[in-house]
Amino acid sequence: MVTTVADEQFGAWLTAFNNAASSTSVDALIALFHPDAFWRDFLAFTWNVHTAEGVDAIREMLIARFERTAITAWQQAGPVRSNNGVLDGMVTFNTSDACCDAVIQLRDGKASIVLTSMTALKVLDEARNMGSVSDYPKSGEAGNSGVETDTGQPYCVIVGAGHCGLSIAARLQQLGVPTLVIDRRERPSDTWRDRHDSLMLHTPSYFDEMPLFPYPQNWPLYPSKNQFANWLDAYRSVMNVNLWTAAECVGADFDDALGKWRLQVRRGDRVIELNPEQLVITTGLFGAPKMPTLDGKERFKGTQQHASLYRNGRDYEGLRCVVVGSGTTAHDISADLWASGAHVTMVQRSPTLVMRWQTLSDGLAQLYGSEAKKRGITTELADLLFAAIPLRSVLRMHQGVVSQAKQRDAQFYERLKSAGFQVTFGEDEAGVYPQVLRDPGRYYIDVGASELIINGNIKLRSGVAVTGLEEETVVLSDGSELPADAVFYATGYDRKPLAPIVNKDIAEKVGWLWGFGSGISADPGPWEGEIRNIGKPTQQTGLWFLAGGPGIVRSYSRVLALQIKARQAGIPTAVYKLAEAFHAN
Ligand SMILES: Cc1cc2nc3c(=O)[nH]c(=O)nc-3n(C[C@H](O)[C@H](O)[C@H](O)COP(=O)(O)OP(=O)(O)OC[C@H]3O[C@@H](n4cnc5c(N)ncnc54)[C@H](O)[C@@H]3O)c2cc1C
Repeated sequence: MVTTVADEQFGAWLTAFNNAASSTSVDALIALFHPDAFWRDFLAFTWNVHTAEGVDAIREMLIARFERTAITAWQQAGPVRSNNGVLDGMVTFNTSDACCDAVIQLRDGKASIVLTSMTALKVLDEARNMGSVSDYPKSGEAGNSGVETDTGQPYCVIVGAGHCGLSIAARLQQLGVPTLVIDRRERPSDTWRDRHDSLMLHTPSYFDEMPLFPYPQNWPLYPSKNQFANWLDAYRSVMNVNLWTAAECVGADFDDALGKWRLQVRRGDRVIELNPEQLVITTGLFGAPKMPTLDGKERFKGTQQHASLYRNGRDYEGLRCVVVGSGTTAHDISADLWASGAHVTMVQRSPTLVMRWQTLSDGLAQLYGSEAKKRGITTELADLLFAAIPLRSVLRMHQGVVSQAKQRDAQFYERLKSAGFQVTFGEDEAGVYPQVLRDPGRYYIDVGASELIINGNIKLRSGVAVTGLEEETVVLSDGSELPADAVFYATGYDRKPLAPIVNKDIAEKVGWLWGFGSGISADPGPWEGEIRNIGKPTQQTGLWFLAGGPGIVRSYSRVLALQIKARQAGIPTAVYKLAEAFHAN
């Protein structure tokens, strides 16, 4: 291997780290960090997903965890990358229980960011567990009955067989954890099929791969909803996921004496109790469709429906359609109605976050996709490098992306504003990705509908709300009326309530899911620094959550599977800084 100056500088830091580690001097370790450094840990030191921000927090973590973690074989892995004086290098190391990776970023000879991440438990023989221990329940294939007389119980139950449930199930299957997934639908992938016909995934497939089973090379960049639904079915089958369909979780309480869940599952006219030790909830973030309360709704002679019920524009050719809302679904439906020959008006109440796909994808393509692969960045490595950006830096980075977008796409925004469309980049100007992590909705990644607004194919009423309906019109807050034959409410979804899937006390104990306390109105503080309750221990023993798009879930499912496996294997997993439950007022 050719040794570069960057390698030498990185090597010098590693030697200093090793020396400080062997003297177990926290002061000597701390001297190797910038005062404003971050140390993000995925389980290796904390058995938690936790970011220590600043040397004081890092010191506290090291005092609590460094000695007991007993790291060995801390050594460089692969070449060091140098960019404007910032060095990025990879390290592998072992703890008493696990093999781990680290990503270390050095600035002026000191660490500014460290990510430590557990990759495998030593007790594991991950070699090939497919179809062995986790064949529970033997009679549990979709459509089978009589499972309540089965002899065993799964160690883990996952509620919800969307991509999140299947991802964590496949990971647990790989690790040999007896796992059962239940879903209330006959065919869970229909969640995607039931969405509007023109829907394509909005994130590129090179980022959105599910774990362990990559897409074939000819897979489209933006698969259609049906392709993705078919993929979910194939994934479940190939990854040998144990799934009960038409099985609804109607209640879950944790029996403290038993140390297990009492999970009530309705299948047909029977309710079956399951007693897993671990319960993973992957029922999605969206609850019931939000419908505005409007005067005169019953007077309106045309059709009206929530956007979740819209399939296609076939029946609307030549009709006057009003789409209420200006997020992704409003744009998709408006474009689809226009393509079907309808006269469409979108009603935008308040400014909307819009960014062009190309602008966003350039950053992602540095890590993911064929060009990155040619540079030796595998998806696993990309996930690690992606995770090495602490959320505080994610915000700053995306504020930078927004300022670049404002320049790069200045003309686009000018034209959009000239058409009357009100644009925002978010309360803290951080753009789309942080919005997804805090308040999934109220944004549009432009894949074409913005141009239709600009050129007037989709008409726009902006800065007004819909206040009511008359027989043939939609009434707006400025007193004007829009003639309409059909109204579509692309007004989003409520937050998914945890109860009654778990009982109310447990839901209360666990608090909010999602967001990280960034202080915007949809994500109130205090600062948490990690996504609340996702892929990490919660205030309720044995209760876990997973949510988000496939690209994000790929990493979190790995981390979650290791935590569950460690508990099944009886490895001590004392959690450092278990997050407090958060409740918004
Ligand atoms: C119109 C639309 C377009 C979208 N487009 C994209 C996109 O392009 N890219 C993207 O990443 N995301 C998109 N999303 C967000 C999308 O919903 C999520 O990414 C994805 O579906 C979430 O997956 P999930 O596994 O968390 O939940 P879901 O796919 O919602 O799966 C949850 C499952 O839980 C089951 N369930 C719920 N309650 C129970 C119960 N009590 N007992 C048993 N089973 C239960 C449900 O039947 C369901 O199958 C879109 C959403 C909408 C509405």
